[in-house]
Amino acid sequence: MVRIGNGYDVHALAPGLPMWLGGVRIPSQNGFVAHSDGDVAIHALCDAILGALALGDIGHLFPDNDDRWKGVDSKILLGKVMELARERGWEIGNADITIALQRPKLAPHIHSMRETLARVMGTEVEAVSVKATTTERLGFVGREEGCEVWATVLLVKR
Ligand code: MG
Repeated sequence: MVRIGNGYDVHALAPGLPMWLGGVRIPSQNGFVAHSDGDVAIHALCDAILGALALGDIGHLFPDNDDRWKGVDSKILLGKVMELARERGWEIGNADITIALQRPKLAPHIHSMRETLARVMGTEVEAVSVKATTTERLGFVGREEGCEVWATVLLVKR
């Protein structure tokens, strides 16, 4: 048995904030405006897993008006979402993430994102794909106002 899910998230960029993406700290002048650590890649990934489970979304699970989640490391949220999957007998088959960000270049960080996400989800790095693209300076991503992420996840019943 398999289940598929997709997730999408956007966060605004602002100067002087830390940039966390895919569980990794990215050196950057700008970071994400958020109630949590703003890891937009993990948020999209969580929503893809929750989508496959038909359990709603992370905004519903971890409301941004709840102080427990203020500044929270998004890896903790991903761990909690994985617990929900495992309780129901599901494991990650594979995950594929596309990050649209104009700057900085993410290529040097892709492997550590894959390793980090695989570790948190309890799966092999080969099962986790992270891809990055700019938007050729078009739209809000191109104007460096924000970052956009799509995630697709396949869950398999063990
Ligand atoms: Mg978010």
